[in-house]
Amino acid sequence: MEKVLVSSCLLGNPVRYDGRSKLSGNAILARWHEQGRLVPICPEVAAGLPTPRAPAEIASRSGQGNPGDAVLAGHAGVMDRNGVDVTDVFLNAARFTVALAKRHGCRHAVLTDGSPSCGSSFVYDGSFSGVKLAGSGVTARALVGAGFTVWPESGIAALARRIG
Ligand code: SF4
Repeated sequence: MEKVLVSSCLLGNPVRYDGRSKLSGNAILARWHEQGRLVPICPEVAAGLPTPRAPAEIASRSGQGNPGDAVLAGHAGVMDRNGVDVTDVFLNAARFTVALAKRHGCRHAVLTDGSPSCGSSFVYDGSFSGVKLAGSGVTARALVGAGFTVWPESGIAALARRIG
């Protein structure tokens, strides 16, 4: 049975910056979890960040393309709300996650949207004011660049149809 990488917070693990989870109510994800089909990872915690931690956002500017790609290319950074540059930690998080996905033979990842690591359709704009930007997080883009397909929670049904 093909394994699927998944954001740990979607499984109810309290690894988010605010010390909470983002438990998914998705029945397919719950079934895959029971079947041992999921490879959970919180990239940020795996890279050494504590929980809880200051929220972080990609400090990207318009014209830089996908925010996650801009960070991977060294054209943008990731800052936490206290002004601490956490770019290197986020890059390590992405590398670790790609390596984990390869080790388990995953081809697909279900990641929490909106996160500067895991976001796949949107992230926040770096102003810490709730403004969304179309684009992806650093880990999500690193996975795509390495040949994986990244799905938000809303794409689980479509992924299930693809992989059975
Ligand atoms: S980095 Fe990803 S897995 Fe970790 S808390 Fe944020 S969204 Fe969830």
